[in-house]
Amino acid sequence: METLSRPAQFAETRAPAADLNGFLTQISQVLPAHCILTRPEQTKVYECDGLSLYRQQPPVVVLPESEQQVLAVLQACRKFNVPVVPRGAGTGLSGGATPHAEGVLIGLAKLNRIISLDPLACLAVVGPGVRNLAISEAAAVHGLYYAPDPSSQIACSIGGNVAENSGGVHCLKYGLTVHNVVKLRVATIDGEIIELGSTAPEAAGLNLLQSFIGSEGMLGLVTEVTVRLIPKPQCARVVMASFPSVQAAGDGVTSIIADGIIPAGLELMDKRAVRMVEPFVQAGYDTEAEAILLCESDGTEIEVQQEISRIEALLAAVGATRLQTSTSEHERLKFWAGRKNAFPAAGRISPDYYCMDGTIPRRHLGRVLSAIAQMEGKYNLRCSNVFHAGDGNLHPLILFDANVPDEVRRAEEFGAEILELCVEVGGTITGEHGVGLEKMNQMCSQFSRAELNAFQAFKRAYDPYGLLNPLKLIPTLVRCAEYGKMHVHQGDIRFPDIPRF
Ligand SMILES: Cc1cc2nc3c(=O)[nH]c(=O)nc-3n(C[C@H](O)[C@H](O)[C@H](O)COP(=O)(O)OP(=O)(O)OC[C@H]3O[C@@H](n4cnc5c(N)ncnc54)[C@H](O)[C@@H]3O)c2cc1C
Repeated sequence: METLSRPAQFAETRAPAADLNGFLTQISQVLPAHCILTRPEQTKVYECDGLSLYRQQPPVVVLPESEQQVLAVLQACRKFNVPVVPRGAGTGLSGGATPHAEGVLIGLAKLNRIISLDPLACLAVVGPGVRNLAISEAAAVHGLYYAPDPSSQIACSIGGNVAENSGGVHCLKYGLTVHNVVKLRVATIDGEIIELGSTAPEAAGLNLLQSFIGSEGMLGLVTEVTVRLIPKPQCARVVMASFPSVQAAGDGVTSIIADGIIPAGLELMDKRAVRMVEPFVQAGYDTEAEAILLCESDGTEIEVQQEISRIEALLAAVGATRLQTSTSEHERLKFWAGRKNAFPAAGRISPDYYCMDGTIPRRHLGRVLSAIAQMEGKYNLRCSNVFHAGDGNLHPLILFDANVPDEVRRAEEFGAEILELCVEVGGTITGEHGVGLEKMNQMCSQFSRAELNAFQAFKRAYDPYGLLNPLKLIPTLVRCAEYGKMHVHQGDIRFPDIPRF
């Protein structure tokens, strides 16, 4: 299978060599032997995250079982100049947890304890390895839940969610991870603990919490997360609406939002996505429609009843050909199961898929979709589209076969062109999956030289040695110049590139 080895390909400045032997000698005095993996057959499973296009087998994997052990690992990395890549559940889709060729991969999945749950304060304190869904499962006895619900929630960890600022179908109304986390314990590269945020309504000092969320393991390792829990709504129902075109479905989204309704979820799927999912999940979708919308209302019985009537009227007015509203909790969950399984369903019709993640102002939906349709011809690859339509977050799924020569390159270029288009229409290159390795070039399109310098300076403040998840998220100005997006003169580089391997 054809894969790209980005870490090697993008090696930039060389720093003093990592002393992995010194690291192993020190760390084996602190961690039990079963927490240190070095044999190739042990480390193989960690060679990639959900973006399997990029693979790099790590020389060492450590699996600490306590915060103290995490600190010891970081102290040893610092002492022996060893790069360190954090990993939660490895479901990331942008290569954020792709290992470093000369570094240590630190898996945080064993820190999976729900430390406390306070139903009166509506707060839970959890280890970074706790699965997203496990928080809601633990809170359910109190009628509470944790709102951000990535489709991967059955597997992904809250530490990974914090690092990626993950979203999900219910984030339109209830916010992303950043809106639902109140406090973090973070291990620094020097092996110390800092606390960001507070459970008090206001905290003194700089607001570092929000700038940390979404930092993709580049600033520190999350060792504890305090999340906000919210009451489960009394009632929730979903309307599934069929449309004769994607544009008409997009108009439905616009008219709902313009009417002042903030649905609990508002998702759009095109015909190819619907036909991919339906045989897999039997969600009850209309496979003849060119596009379907799923629109959820939640609240009290009365509120939901009234809002659903308004939603149905608005969607009928923009040309919905079929409206079906869930009549039971089972049916509601089935409607969502289809959408949440869209990525795995791609595996039924294509050996590989490449999931893109850009956001656009909603008014450009039609233009962007017809451009994507033209790109299918240009790159000779199929693409199906699912969106968090309410917040303009596109997830085009480019279908390809890595065993066919040239298809990986075409899939990559197709994806890059979609992201460049998102920037061109005033959007961004990621809605929720992060930049990782995948979108480094497009960072050069999205941000100016001054902005990238500011990011570098911020990274340096936390990690002056460039050891935390290097080669990810922030491109160097030199790289942007090579990509053709920036003219760089020596004097422009106020902050020389962070030493890299
Ligand atoms: C089928 C599928 C559906 C998905 N749906 C969604 C979706 O709806 N919404 C969405 O936002 N994402 C979605 N994702 C992407 C992914 O699940 C999220 O990005 C998730 O937050 C990653 O969590 P993880 O535990 O798997 O992290 P990993 O993949 O292990 O790591 C992700 C990043 O976080 C860093 N990291 C991990 N743990 C820590 C820690 N403790 N401290 C510091 N840094 C850390 C890693 O270095 C890496 O940069 C989906 C993925 C799949 C495969």
